[in-house]
Amino acid sequence: MRSGYDLELVHLTKRYGSTVAVRDINHVFAPGSYVCLLGPSGCGKSSTLRMIAGHEEVSEGSIVLDGQDVSSLPPAQRGTAMMFQNYALFPHLSVRDNVAFSLRMKGVDKPTRHKRADELLALVDMTHLADRLPDQLSGGQQQRVALARALVTEPKVLLLDEPLSALDPFLRVRMRTELKKLQRELGITFIHVTHGQDEALALADEIVVMNDAVIEQAGPAREVWAAPRTEFVARFIGGHNVIDLPEGKSTIRSDAIRLSDDGLAATITAVEYQGASVAISTRTDSGDDVLALLPEEDFFKSPKSPGDAVRLSWDDGRLHRLEV
Ligand code: ADP
Repeated sequence: MRSGYDLELVHLTKRYGSTVAVRDINHVFAPGSYVCLLGPSGCGKSSTLRMIAGHEEVSEGSIVLDGQDVSSLPPAQRGTAMMFQNYALFPHLSVRDNVAFSLRMKGVDKPTRHKRADELLALVDMTHLADRLPDQLSGGQQQRVALARALVTEPKVLLLDEPLSALDPFLRVRMRTELKKLQRELGITFIHVTHGQDEALALADEIVVMNDAVIEQAGPAREVWAAPRTEFVARFIGGHNVIDLPEGKSTIRSDAIRLSDDGLAATITAVEYQGASVAISTRTDSGDDVLALLPEEDFFKSPKSPGDAVRLSWDDGRLHRLEV
């Protein structure tokens, strides 16, 4: 059985009047991978996703799926499917009819489309609610229906626009586990837009970090986190401190910093107990804000308070030089 399809963005650009929302991006999505497009609001994530889906025209460049340039095809003929942020379920149709809707549009007969809808509802564990209307469902259940509805067309690539943002924090964590499990089972590429770095780290095989209409860095989640290429990525992905050192701008992980007798001179600005660790905010004498995450046992051996002068040190091997 083949696993996933190739999807490639080639010199892809999107303009809205004089605004360049996506600027000449190139990317190959690994077949069958869970990819998160990550970046702050306005960086061009949704425009990229909507162009792949065919809901937005490409200004320049192309989108190649499974060897075919799909850039000018209508959404239903591309082999992609989109799950929207607000789920966009039809309020007057039952769960089963919502899922079967696109098959009805394609002229598939009723017994066949209901059978297929029921298979998808079983996949997302919603069989028992097939006859309900959308407003009789919880947020998590509506999301499962939206997923089943997107998957009923057997897409080569599933596109998800901030799929978890409408859920409360508890449900968000549960649903992201379900999304990941579903992607593994189906073996197709999921491209998931998010502005949450923890969501991207938890889900993604590959993270594509966007900033200001371009791809700033792309790679396996662990690589992007451990070796941010730019100051922007280091700050956005979190867990790092950007420090100006004589040898150049560098990052050091918050959990690699120790308070010791010698090292960079700093003053504590805040202390926050976080359970397993204690977060100590400091300001160095040269004006950088540096966060140290200490294991709680270490902190309480020699507790510190805001205003205390400290010295920050780390093993040189833990320092990561930024390229830009
Ligand atoms: P993101 O999804 O990362 O928040 P978007 O792709 O939605 O970013 O937007 C990228 C840029 O394009 C922003 O500056 C936004 O204001 C602009 N933009 C998005 N959609 C439109 C539109 N329909 N018309 C004009 N400008 C738009």
